[in-house]
Amino acid sequence: MAKIEDIALFDLDGTLCDYDKDLLEKLEELRSPKEPHLSSMRNAPPYIKKRVDMIRASEEWWKNLPRFQLGWDILNVAKNFNYRIMILTQGPRKNPSAWSGKKKWIDKNLGEDVDVTMTRDKGIVYGKVLVDDFPGYIEKWLEWRTRGVVIMPANESNQNFTHPHVIRYDGTNINHVKNALRLAKKRRFKEPLDLDT
Ligand SMILES: [Mg+2]
Repeated sequence: MAKIEDIALFDLDGTLCDYDKDLLEKLEELRSPKEPHLSSMRNAPPYIKKRVDMIRASEEWWKNLPRFQLGWDILNVAKNFNYRIMILTQGPRKNPSAWSGKKKWIDKNLGEDVDVTMTRDKGIVYGKVLVDDFPGYIEKWLEWRTRGVVIMPANESNQNFTHPHVIRYDGTNINHVKNALRLAKKRRFKEPLDLDT
């Protein structure tokens, strides 16, 4: 019987690091007293988007993003089950500073030996488990891994996304996460997945 390697793929922004919170804080620092406060990037005007581009052009900004606790809770569970942890993160098309800043963040927070895939297409990367907050990437990944398990750290924009193989973790249901990672690990090659057992 073939043994599948126990790989857990972890996203960075919105999973292991708090991209949204830090971006809003940086935008607040750049806000003129006459401008309105910004509580989300939804419907942000073009001049705000230009500021976002400037913030994102800084390697230092990526490198110093704060940790996001929901993702670290899941990481601890995956480590306890002896999953091989790999980072799977999107590399912005026209922003090499983000690529190097993300690598420096990983070195600082997870160590230099952690494997990293930076890609434009997360769907092509193998793992038993994917931890990602973005429904678009989750759907793409599940398209080719019909028995894969996904843990999705909760945020405002993914609150309505549901899928039989996706567990939305909001800080209150860590036992559900543990159960899913346990089942995914013991499942044999081609054995179906039933997260309700
Ligand atoms: Mg993300």
